Amino acid sequence: MQDLTLIPATRKALPAEPFLGRHLIGGAWVASAETFDRISPAHGVLVSRSALGSAAETEAAIAAARAAFDGGEWSRSSGKARAGVLNRVADLIEANAERMALLECLETGKPIMQARGEVSGAADLWRYAAAQARTMHGDSHDSLGEDMLAVVLKEPIGVVSIITPWNFPFWILGQKLPFALAAGCTCVVKPSEMTPSTTVMLGELLIEAGLPAGTVNIVLGFGQPVGALMASHPDVDMVTFTGSTAVGKSIQAAASGTLKKVALELGGKNAQVIFPDADLDSAADAVTFGVYFNAGECCNSGSRIILHEDIAQDFVTRVVALSRRVAFGDPLDEATQVGAIVTPAHNAKIDGYVQAALAAGARIALGGAPMRIDGLPGEFYAPTIVTGVTPDMAIAQEEVFGPVLSVLTFRTLDEAVALANNASYGLSAGVWSENVHTCLAFARRAQAGTIWTNTWMDGFPEVTFGGMKQSGLGRENGRYGLEEFLEIKSVVMRVGRTRANWVR
Ligand code: NAD
Repeated sequence: MQDLTLIPATRKALPAEPFLGRHLIGGAWVASAETFDRISPAHGVLVSRSALGSAAETEAAIAAARAAFDGGEWSRSSGKARAGVLNRVADLIEANAERMALLECLETGKPIMQARGEVSGAADLWRYAAAQARTMHGDSHDSLGEDMLAVVLKEPIGVVSIITPWNFPFWILGQKLPFALAAGCTCVVKPSEMTPSTTVMLGELLIEAGLPAGTVNIVLGFGQPVGALMASHPDVDMVTFTGSTAVGKSIQAAASGTLKKVALELGGKNAQVIFPDADLDSAADAVTFGVYFNAGECCNSGSRIILHEDIAQDFVTRVVALSRRVAFGDPLDEATQVGAIVTPAHNAKIDGYVQAALAAGARIALGGAPMRIDGLPGEFYAPTIVTGVTPDMAIAQEEVFGPVLSVLTFRTLDEAVALANNASYGLSAGVWSENVHTCLAFARRAQAGTIWTNTWMDGFPEVTFGGMKQSGLGRENGRYGLEEFLEIKSVVMRVGRTRANWVR
């Protein structure tokens, strides 16, 4: 198809038996009367069979987390003790990385190489959070006068509900759970119904690492009833969610009944702006990476590029040429760079955006259709570049969540900023120029939680991440990622017995 680089089925042996997932409640593994299955989106084989969580099981998990928090074994333990457990978890993740990466690859459809990177990268998040457990502290106020001293304590917020999506199941859990644990919180976790297994495997590792029973509870299942109850329950103090903006809004509404804290990491419609003086080779490579990484099923997908008119045609030609060299195909092949689309319904949704853009007057420079990979029954979408996109088209405004690049053009910095900000989302944005003034001017005016200049999608546990506008609330990673899970309490103290009585 169109001279693409396609990797056929490897015919590698797939696991003979599905992974069997159960809930983890109060330190015990719990089965349900009913189960649900996950079929590999690339290979069409049964990968996992999981306990189907009910309201009663969710209630039990929340009760276990509440009792564990109030009991204090974890919530009142020292930072040193917490760091010890978190570091042991990191070691165990590394020791089990291959086993976990295989399940992550099969459940998501992402390439095995990238699944490995996700799992071992997550171990680093656990280590970073362990360091934070030992270094976090509050403030003191020594300048209130000789007879007064105040301290600001940072305490764990309490029981935290963690709800995660299917696109980076293990990494996203790593942006939340170790930070919540470092703070001293106890948790109830619900992974996506499409990718439950690496969360269950992590549960096994938490027990092995010595985490007290009830500190982390896992309930498998769907948004209804499990996720919705986790968001509304009065015994939960905070809910942290990564997923779609629509579900994020319903979570905020559900949480409002008890005014619990809400942290949301939602979608994005992330623009890269390319000026004529940029290093165009690097920019073209980064744009190609940005749109195809994780098959575009990525909150940080660089799904829009905004090109200076003088270079637009040449730049599109470069990206088309690079796109033909990106290896799409069997996720189990070590050479594959882009795997399967998560479900047939999602593949149809991606194509719907492309066809609607064509009907509205856009043009196809490459791809533009679902495709088959030799020897595999699963769903794939061709690398796709759509030119002639105008800001009003759905493909320019909404999250396509597929390997589809929309191309817009600009003439001035003002126009580029206006186009980049012309979206309800505000997750990330990028600028390419050799002129530092251009980059800084853009970085200051772009409405997004992360701005990349002359790079794309680099992330570190140290560097805070999150979205503006409808991309979310709150931040993950770095100092602010820990602060999300801390409640602030001021203690005001009188020193000495010199205070004059109020009653005369
Ligand atoms: P989703 O919103 O459909 O589901 C996410 C999770 O919410 C799943 O566990 C699901 O079972 C649960 N859920 C569904 N309905 C619920 C309800 N009513 N109450 C509580 N929980 C409910 O999202 P998805 O399709 O799994 O993931 C894709 C979305 O996630 C994309 O929009 C993507 O941009 C976003 N995402 C954002 C980030 C980020 O950091 N900003 C990272 C990854 C993915």
